[in-house]
Amino acid sequence: MHNTLEAPPPGIIAADNPGTAPPPASRPPVSRRIFLSAAAIAALVAAAGPVVGQATSARADWGPYRNGEIPLDALTPIPWKPSLYLRSDAVAALVALNASFRKQFGRDLPLSDAYRDLPNQVKARQDWCARGHCENAAIPGQSNHGWAVAIDIGIPIDAWTNPIYLWMKSNAPQWGWIHPNWAEPGGQKPDEAWHWEYTGVYKPTPETSATENNVEAIVKAPNGIVVHLRPGGKTNFGTPQEYNLFRDQIAFLRNAGATDVMALPELSTVPGVTWDTFIYLSRYIGAPE
Ligand SMILES: [Zn+2]
Repeated sequence: MHNTLEAPPPGIIAADNPGTAPPPASRPPVSRRIFLSAAAIAALVAAAGPVVGQATSARADWGPYRNGEIPLDALTPIPWKPSLYLRSDAVAALVALNASFRKQFGRDLPLSDAYRDLPNQVKARQDWCARGHCENAAIPGQSNHGWAVAIDIGIPIDAWTNPIYLWMKSNAPQWGWIHPNWAEPGGQKPDEAWHWEYTGVYKPTPETSATENNVEAIVKAPNGIVVHLRPGGKTNFGTPQEYNLFRDQIAFLRNAGATDVMALPELSTVPGVTWDTFIYLSRYIGAPE
């Protein structure tokens, strides 16, 4: 829909600026950027410090969806196991967790399941009931796998002394991932060493129709505020520290293998723009005005 517009004025840093983007050969053949949503940014900011309220595993409804009925294009694939999907903020937190896991174990966190749609929840329940252990699968429609905030990691169900389980117990909560009380040994049945849940609170992002746009920009508005413009969203950075933290976190994600977020310029090179240009850019990109 933006094809008829002119290119942005010179001096603007956009996602496809050759000075900041990876060379074309290394870019994935996608037509649509999975841009870093506000929820993902919130998760990244949260990842910089301890997550509060991590003792519970309560899950609420999110978005317009029901448990197990979330379309895959509303979810985000896990980068090192793209057949598995989670809510975008849960993936962002898991990517950060995995970077630390890799340092310890020299490989990615093994995963066997994540989002589970309703038909597969029904199937899991039937399979376990057929073996006389209905309690090993949630009642269909009630599984946290159906909310796209649970994973099963690749260890045995009773691997309470497995180094991966022990590492996760010590480390995962700082990224908002916990082993829920019900799955603990001696907790409510079933005891599942492999089952982990994300506890970050989802913050819905306003959706727009501009999802086919793949341009983002970082600019300094005439009032001195540095702003991240992206399709359907806009983030103001109140202080240089805030911007630099965000920039570090994006660099961290890119180092961890994320190819769908743009590299960010140094604060000193962020271009200042007039209000006319700012409004032009917001419309071009599809950011709210
Ligand atoms: Zn599970």
